[in-house]
Amino acid sequence: MMEEIATGGMVSSVAEPDSATQSAMSCARAPMGLLAELTHRCPLQCPYCSNPLELTRVSQELTTAQWQDVMRQAGEIGVLQLHLSGGEPCVRQDLEQILEAAVKAGLYTNLITSGVTLTRDRLEKLAKLGLDHVQLSIQDVDPANAERISAYKGGAAKKHEVAKWVREIGLPLTLNAVVHRHNIESLPAIIDYAVEMGAGRLEVAHTQYYAWALKNRAALIPTREQFLKTVKYVDEARERLKGVLVFDFVVHDHYAIRPKPCMGGWGKNLVTITPSGKVLPCHAAETITWLQHDNIKDRPLGDIWLNGAAFNAYRGTSWMKEPCRSCDRREIDWGGCRCQALAMTGDAANADPTCEKSVHHAAFKAIAETEAYAPSPGFIYRRMGAAAAVE
Ligand code: SF4
Ligand code: SF4
Repeated sequence: MMEEIATGGMVSSVAEPDSATQSAMSCARAPMGLLAELTHRCPLQCPYCSNPLELTRVSQELTTAQWQDVMRQAGEIGVLQLHLSGGEPCVRQDLEQILEAAVKAGLYTNLITSGVTLTRDRLEKLAKLGLDHVQLSIQDVDPANAERISAYKGGAAKKHEVAKWVREIGLPLTLNAVVHRHNIESLPAIIDYAVEMGAGRLEVAHTQYYAWALKNRAALIPTREQFLKTVKYVDEARERLKGVLVFDFVVHDHYAIRPKPCMGGWGKNLVTITPSGKVLPCHAAETITWLQHDNIKDRPLGDIWLNGAAFNAYRGTSWMKEPCRSCDRREIDWGGCRCQALAMTGDAANADPTCEKSVHHAAFKAIAETEAYAPSPGFIYRRMGAAAAVE
């Protein structure tokens, strides 16, 4: 179907392609994955949440029919994987109907959940409808600390139950742990816990400092020594648990010297749709305030993906400045993260300051070296409306 889009007048009818069209043509295939943020509602209040500071209210959320149409369009353009996320996707009472539409569209479906609102009956029903995979977030294996981090009572016990149900029902399970200075010492126990629960995959993700995490950076950022310990734990466990547990390890940007290929390259592999229907090249793209984000209510997904202004703003390499422009890694890491470049250097077209070739790298590194060694301030919990509630 993406071929139909490409030959349907949007690309091939242009005789002399401009640079935006050239970059769209360089991406002549569908996004591999769609992150569907069904809602920003969530019973938890994690201080590292990647949702925006301005959370979308329920009255602005896409309807059931609109999400079902998104699934149909995603299937038609050739999206392979759907990540049902939020907020907490299970607070949507129509999750089953949205899932059904996704299964009908031929998408591989992954439910990213905190688990706290799930019942066994509902999980069984989702599995029967064709859910392929569950990704369960955990804050810590220590229940009191998990409660403190998420501001949610009884979360660890509930997640334990949900993890058991997932495996008993026969669904593959990934556990996801965002690590920061308030749970980093628990990492060996978190790895043991993932094995005990029968997870096939463990994502150990150092906090990415956008949105709520950026607001809470001084409370969350670990020291270099703590970060290096996590590298050692993961390397050792990866070797020891070969064939048992697969690791996804997201390193800490402030202690790295090369950036990650953020989203696998802007507008290259992934598309995010927010609860109100904005179609984004990455979930933090709204922080680049001058970008015009199309809404799925106004324009078809395939057209936005190929021709949307926001998708073409940083697609490919033609937008790059030095040092990225002449760097031999420019098609490996794509210059890193545009949102981090903007937040830390004032220009989204600069190299991600994670890169040691960036003139902003020293200042970026110094932030960690200053904040991580100072006493942690209290958390600013992720809340709808009042963003200033400090523990
Ligand atoms: S990070 Fe925490 S607060 Fe944010 S959506 Fe996930 S569970 Fe909810
Ligand atoms: S200069 Fe740019 S492309 Fe090269 S490694 Fe650094 S961020 Fe990546």
